[in-house]
Amino acid sequence: MKSINPYTGETIQTFPQFTPSQVSASITKAHEAFFSWKKTSFSERSNLMRSVAKGLREHKDKYAKTMTLEMGKPIAQAKAEIDKCAWLCEYYADTAEQHLTSKIIKTDAAKSYVNYEPIGVVLAVMPWNYPFWQVFRFIVPALMAGNVGVLKHASNVMGCAEHIEAVFINAGFPKHCFQNLPINSSKVEAIIRHKHIKAVTLTGSKPAGSMVASVAGEEIKKSVLELGGSNALVVFKDAEIDNTVATCVQARFQNTGQSCIAGKRLLLHKSIEEEFLDKLKKEVIALKSGNPLEEDTYIGTMAREDLAEELEEQLKASVKEGAKILIGGKRTNAYFEPTIVTNVTPEMSIFKEETFGPVLSVTIFNTDEEAVELVNQSDFGLGVSIFTENDSKIEKLIPLFEDGAVFVNELVKSDPRLPFGGTKISGYGRELSEDGIKEFVNKKTVYIK
Ligand code: NDP
Repeated sequence: MKSINPYTGETIQTFPQFTPSQVSASITKAHEAFFSWKKTSFSERSNLMRSVAKGLREHKDKYAKTMTLEMGKPIAQAKAEIDKCAWLCEYYADTAEQHLTSKIIKTDAAKSYVNYEPIGVVLAVMPWNYPFWQVFRFIVPALMAGNVGVLKHASNVMGCAEHIEAVFINAGFPKHCFQNLPINSSKVEAIIRHKHIKAVTLTGSKPAGSMVASVAGEEIKKSVLELGGSNALVVFKDAEIDNTVATCVQARFQNTGQSCIAGKRLLLHKSIEEEFLDKLKKEVIALKSGNPLEEDTYIGTMAREDLAEELEEQLKASVKEGAKILIGGKRTNAYFEPTIVTNVTPEMSIFKEETFGPVLSVTIFNTDEEAVELVNQSDFGLGVSIFTENDSKIEKLIPLFEDGAVFVNELVKSDPRLPFGGTKISGYGRELSEDGIKEFVNKKTVYIK
């Protein structure tokens, strides 16, 4: 497998893949490690997890640079990602024991309760867009619950995968509690079917999720899927315009638009169309594109040229169908100009499909009912942001959305303290918070007469 710098087109490093017998040996070692790891106390696990946080902060520059070189993330955003991973480690170091405390339930028994026990080796299939965060979001709660993990990371970020494995080893985690398996996607099916793999979690596209979930289903193994999104940013007529513009720009363009929870579809009330688009255009034009290694770059290149080409196709198809490019629209290799597209209707590709890059589509609505319908018209259901200063409207609107999250006057963002996950083709299951750590545990019912 190759890591290619999408900004320069240069090959950075090649990585030999594990053979099937190496993969099988790693899984067996993980299974063996599980039997001692699950007996460790929460305080032992927490101490190790705090060392991971420390190691991340100590080597932040090195890790951030690898991300930037492998997938084009602007360096300042890469450093922020490392900080967020350290926060996650500390969050679960502080809270895992409390999340997993047995729950006493009064019945006719002398004593009845639920225990939350680890299940064994969990496989994670992870993407390149947040190459550290996505992996940490899985492995930190998994280890704190007493599970062990193996990682199949995206083929283009193997340098990041190696760093992550090293962070855990350097922090003092027992060998084989967390292992990186350098393999491509064709090897995943056999891993899911391996007798020592107890569950699988995938973050990525629908085809990948569908394949992983169907194999897990055949094997009757638990799966969690965090797939794409096409989040709406709904700006009602009573929104505070300046702050909303700034939030929408961040929601769509951070990470060069390559985020499942990015606000991809801007839904704008007709009465504020002109003022809002005028301000939005100015802010998007001001975003600095350039070398992702420079601290003040906000828009880097996309992670791979083929992904930029795919985005270009979606844009071209939508323009053919009547969409209008307000600004941007051009691609040079893996670089895609920050783009705003107006006149977008629900039949168009950029409304129906996930656009994984710096393209914001704009659709106008006239009534609240119409706005809700446009939000729910998407097959995706990860999250929605609504912008309004009308407090009485907010509580009425929230239950009408079909998504996994509603954020009010804020972009949809992940936070270790809050559950994260979607509905519809955005997947199922939850990550982070108490819900996330309870996905891969045996909720054991105990009844003592
Ligand atoms: P993929 O879904 O193809 O890749 C994500 C992970 O899944 C990678 O580790 C990949 O491995 C693996 N994978 C891919 N196909 C299979 C399969 N059939 N069986 C098992 N594992 C598989 O994403 P892409 O990189 O191709 O990006 C395509 C689109 O996916 C994006 O444009 C975006 O719409 C969506 N996406 C969504 C993400 C999210 O955060 N929800 C993140 C990334 C992408 P390998 O790299 O070896 O192919």
